[in-house]
Amino acid sequence: MTSKNDTLMERAQRTTPGGVNSPVRAFRSVGGTPRFITHADGPYVWDADGKRYTDYVGSWGPAIVGHAHPTVVKAVQEAAAKGLSFGAPTEAEIEMAEEICRLVPSIEQVRLVSSGTEATMSALRLARGATGRDLIVKFEGCYHGHADSLLVKAGSGLLTFGNPTSAGVPADFVQHTLVLEYNNTQQLEDAFAEMGDDIACVIVEPIAGNMNLVRATPEFLNTMRKLCSQYGAVLIFDEVMSGFRAALHGAQSLYGITPDITALGKVIGGGLPVAAFGGKVDIMKHMAPIGPVYQAGTLSGNPVAVAAGMATLKLIQEPGFFESLTRQTSRLAQGLSAAAAEAGVGFCADSVGGMFGIYFLDQKPDSYAAMMRSDIPKFNRFFHAMLDAGHFFAPAAFEAGFVSGAHDDAIVDETVEAARKAFAALV
Ligand code: PMP
Repeated sequence: MTSKNDTLMERAQRTTPGGVNSPVRAFRSVGGTPRFITHADGPYVWDADGKRYTDYVGSWGPAIVGHAHPTVVKAVQEAAAKGLSFGAPTEAEIEMAEEICRLVPSIEQVRLVSSGTEATMSALRLARGATGRDLIVKFEGCYHGHADSLLVKAGSGLLTFGNPTSAGVPADFVQHTLVLEYNNTQQLEDAFAEMGDDIACVIVEPIAGNMNLVRATPEFLNTMRKLCSQYGAVLIFDEVMSGFRAALHGAQSLYGITPDITALGKVIGGGLPVAAFGGKVDIMKHMAPIGPVYQAGTLSGNPVAVAAGMATLKLIQEPGFFESLTRQTSRLAQGLSAAAAEAGVGFCADSVGGMFGIYFLDQKPDSYAAMMRSDIPKFNRFFHAMLDAGHFFAPAAFEAGFVSGAHDDAIVDETVEAARKAFAALV
């Protein structure tokens, strides 16, 4: 009997390239048929065949309070009933901006946009506009959305497809993008010594989540901060994934580093399209309509999306929420590591706040090159064994995973138990 997922995939491919609206969803690297989701609740998603999965994808980050949280759904319904979009400012946008500025002290002013791609793309333009310089520095394995000048040695789906860059990006567009190795402090120092006066900005995921989870060393980020200040370059932390996820106040709070611009997304929309970029007034004053750097959006600050985001931001500030999320995510990482060790599989795991990494490697990776040494065929078999057992991990070896506030002890234990069997079957 063909599954409904197979039938839907066949149908989807007729009218949508590859059957999906974002590449990693297609299961290309792990093989098999993507699951078409019909609905979700708390820690679970259900596919078209009615099968339930414990969800560790969490919409790739936003679903931090669990799916269809009643408070978030109610906020969305109430906002929707008052009108879907006005193209004029609302008080809710002020409240959201105030909340972001309060939670992320490096941000004094913020502009709301609709996707992480827009946030980083606009942050780059702002950095270039504010400095009058062209050169941008990024790091191998970091993904900052799909703006042309950032599609160089990017992570996530692009790693999966072995596509270090994208067709359709003129070489001219990336000639101002310098790609360095993540966590290679010496290389960064050398680059600044040679070109520091031409560098508009350095953009980095302070905790990388697009080559699986890779932590930056404090030395790497501290040196980056120091060099940017010394040479007048703008330091952009891309916290689209790590913001409100690695810690309530972002990865920057864990490292005690103040970036000049922060890009946010995912969690701040609570599952609807909200992203943002912000920083000190001194840099944000360059934005239109008060400054010369242009940026705009028909649906920016959309009232329904902002309502979902605000409700989510309130929930993650409830007493104990982040402590519990962090503990649960760490229990998962430790449980998986112990299960793999029992089976004798070369594997390790790591977690920061509500995000985690799983690696078919003997030690945690500290760079793109280290991550690339992981055993992909083993990951793929593990992925499918877990999927069969009803546990949905990211369908590619280079993605971080996400736990929500709805994942309790019993659910995590169940997942670890399933993993024990999956690891045993690998050897
Ligand atoms: N930056 C980072 C760090 C991301 O993880 C992502 C998305 N995974 C983006 C930017 C792009 O965000 P979006 O998909 O909303 O455009």
